Amino acid sequence: MLSKPSKPGFMPSEHRISVRPSVIASMVVLAIIIFYGSVIWPQSPTGAIAVTALGTFGIVYLFVFNFLLVPSPHFRDIYNWLNAILTAVGLAALTFLTSSQLALYIAVLLILAAITSSITAEWGPAYLLVILSTTLIMFFERERTVPMRSGIFHVSAAIIALIAVETIRQLKNLSRDRIRKLETITEFSRQIVSSLETQQVLKLLNTALRNAVEADTYFVGMREGDEMRLELIYDDKQYYENQRVKLEGTLSGWVFENQQSLFLPDLRKDVSLPRVRLVLLGKHKTSLSWMGVPMRGNSVDGILVIGSYRPNAFDRADLELLSNLAQHAALALDNAYRHSQVELQAHLDSLTGVYNHGYFLKLLKEQADQALRDEQPLSLIMLDVDYFKQYNDTYGHLAGDEILTSLCAAIKQHIKTSDAVGRWGGEEFVISLPNANANQAIQIALRIRSTLSTLTVQNHGKDPISVPTISQGIALFPDEVNEVIKLVDLADRRLYIAKARGRNQIEPSPDQMWLDEIE
Ligand code: GH3
Ligand code: MG
Ligand code: MG
Repeated sequence: MLSKPSKPGFMPSEHRISVRPSVIASMVVLAIIIFYGSVIWPQSPTGAIAVTALGTFGIVYLFVFNFLLVPSPHFRDIYNWLNAILTAVGLAALTFLTSSQLALYIAVLLILAAITSSITAEWGPAYLLVILSTTLIMFFERERTVPMRSGIFHVSAAIIALIAVETIRQLKNLSRDRIRKLETITEFSRQIVSSLETQQVLKLLNTALRNAVEADTYFVGMREGDEMRLELIYDDKQYYENQRVKLEGTLSGWVFENQQSLFLPDLRKDVSLPRVRLVLLGKHKTSLSWMGVPMRGNSVDGILVIGSYRPNAFDRADLELLSNLAQHAALALDNAYRHSQVELQAHLDSLTGVYNHGYFLKLLKEQADQALRDEQPLSLIMLDVDYFKQYNDTYGHLAGDEILTSLCAAIKQHIKTSDAVGRWGGEEFVISLPNANANQAIQIALRIRSTLSTLTVQNHGKDPISVPTISQGIALFPDEVNEVIKLVDLADRRLYIAKARGRNQIEPSPDQMWLDEIE
């Protein structure tokens, strides 16, 4: 499964680069405060010593915390909260120890500390730092200056600091979003190369879309004539079953027709495309943002669409992401299709195109299990061409081959898609009929026999030649036998009874009332 990408943080080297300007600036401002607080405007000799000691400690602390501790693997989020408290206490102590003339420098220091903290931590510690520092600073300043003016000054500084924090938070979110999108594409393309099944590709696509875009709705559509078959529909936290939509006049139709992406940030204004109608899929809610990209491969003609109930929910980065996902998915769906074709070929008989012995038996076992679960009957017809050796000897092997192909085509005419035909060997075929009772099986056997009798085969441009007859044996699961192998065996034995009765016969279960009509 595609894992949800982690919340990306900064690498140690990236972290050092990001905080460097604000940390160095803070160190310089601290040096200025030391100089003014101890040399130019010292409050007292001990005050001067205290400012120097505290300022120096601040410089060392800034270096150790930001350049050594934060990038180290032992760093914990709790340290960010401690740092916020420590910084607030430090700023308050500096305010207390220095003259109010240095208030501006302390305000600058507060703004720089807020910037550094918002790079290092999430917004919580940065907010705590600004609010706690401002409160403590105002507390220590309250008796020294005009309270009103001091209050306005420090609240303004706090507002500037919070604006900086918010700006950095938004930038971090944007870069996280980009990283998440890149991670999603990388992870999706890595996993999708090994998926050889359509359903697996759709599942990965679903996870990638959920992780990387803020869409309320999305779907994958495949063109089938003038319709679109929807393979995956997600709308308002729910998945919907396959649906079909007429393409004419729809936004999806436009994308299919032009083989171009279509990005409509606000559907209330943007639907100026000619003859476009909006179709509701899933919930009865209309999307206001819409984005569709073509998903084209050798054997894939699809479209990938995302929508949101909000206008302007997507941007160019989403379009790029969607195109990327669609390209990778188209390749993977192509692979899956080719793989399924190869797999199907391996299950088919090369002459007649019906299932080969091994695959038919596997299918029959599955059908029998299903019949038991549904408490429904499963009929099996086994048929064999009469006097086929003689036929081959008379008309040649090629004419014989043509008979086998025509026979299979005749069988397919009379069975449902849920039924299966297999070549049991040579000129012997098996037909499984899920949910068909004995009477229905006899009906089908009769129809195959009569269709075959109407066929003609060309004898290499000469006169048409007659078609051989067939003999058929029918057995019922689970009424007569409760194992697949016994079912085949019973049908086989009945086939030979039919042969013994003179060929061109159908041998059903002995208690069938139909026998008279069959003869
Ligand atoms: P019966 O009525 O008892 O079934 O007689 P039969 O001659 O059909 O039975 P037999 O088993 O003696 O011969 C089967 C023949 O089917 C022999 C073989 O040449 C022919 N046959 C098997 N597979 C093919 C095939 O793929 N193409 C052709 N043309 N003939 C095949
Ligand atoms: Mg035969
Ligand atoms: Mg035979």
